[in-house]
Amino acid sequence: MSTTFPQNGSAIGRGLLAVGDRWTLLILQRAFVAHTRRFGDWRAQLGLSESTLAARLRGLVAAGLMERVPYDDNGRTRDEYLLTARALQLWSLLLAIWGWERISMPDVPNAPVLVHNDCGSAALPVLGCGVCGVSPVTARDTSAERGAKAEFAQIAVPRLHRRAQESSGPIDPLSYYPQTMEILGDRWSTAILAAAFLGVRRFTTFKTELGIAPSILSDRLRRFVAAGVLHAPSDEGEYRLTRRGMDFFPVYAILVDWALRSYPTHSAHDLVIRHASCAAPLRPILVCSHCGGELSRTSVHFTFSPAVS
Ligand SMILES: [Zn+2]
Ligand SMILES: [Zn+2]
Repeated sequence: MSTTFPQNGSAIGRGLLAVGDRWTLLILQRAFVAHTRRFGDWRAQLGLSESTLAARLRGLVAAGLMERVPYDDNGRTRDEYLLTARALQLWSLLLAIWGWERISMPDVPNAPVLVHNDCGSAALPVLGCGVCGVSPVTARDTSAERGAKAEFAQIAVPRLHRRAQESSGPIDPLSYYPQTMEILGDRWSTAILAAAFLGVRRFTTFKTELGIAPSILSDRLRRFVAAGVLHAPSDEGEYRLTRRGMDFFPVYAILVDWALRSYPTHSAHDLVIRHASCAAPLRPILVCSHCGGELSRTSVHFTFSPAVS
């Protein structure tokens, strides 16, 4: 795997390149939730191979999401991997993913509970507009404007790896569900969903838009239909988002916002999601479903049920 990170191309494409990968998401998530920063600890927590972990950490460093900091390990110098300021902003993305899992799969036993410290209540994250303060904001409350060159996924091609070659990942209360990994598990899947939110409906348009091989596209669309994220194609051959797919909008909006801020590029490549009611570009925030206060990294914690702690 290449350890260089593209310096041009669309912000969205680079954002997907940086985080649209199952192991990358899990590595980041453990860094946030368990404060993991050492190679051996990720290995123990996630059970992935040394080469896979090393490649993902190199990718995270190249994308500006982790920095290597030496530490003394009984006289040997080793590196720890610390989240950068850019990576810390991904906290809301991970929280939005967690929220989507809670909404779309509410019956999973032993799921961690999010507590909002300010109000003391168990909460779900709700997407709001940081400009006008309105919440909730759904996909239907927004419009997307694309730059002339917003070919957002084209650059993801060189580093794409085959999926389903590795184990499916750890099974524990911290890990994402298989349904989530169907969507975020590789860059193609995330890119296809992003295109769906932009209004792409047809096989041929997805293919042209993403520069994706037909066999890969067929496979991912089939998986999305099976996961209940896309409806089966209509008689006109159109794939439309289901309710569950539409519920993924907060994750998408936060990913786009983060990518635009993290990997700024020429405006012709950019994509703007506009909040219809205030007409400003959406600045996505997550608010508490109980009290409406904004959720921040330091204003929430997770509790785990005794059965699995
Ligand atoms: Zn607004
Ligand atoms: Zn609250």
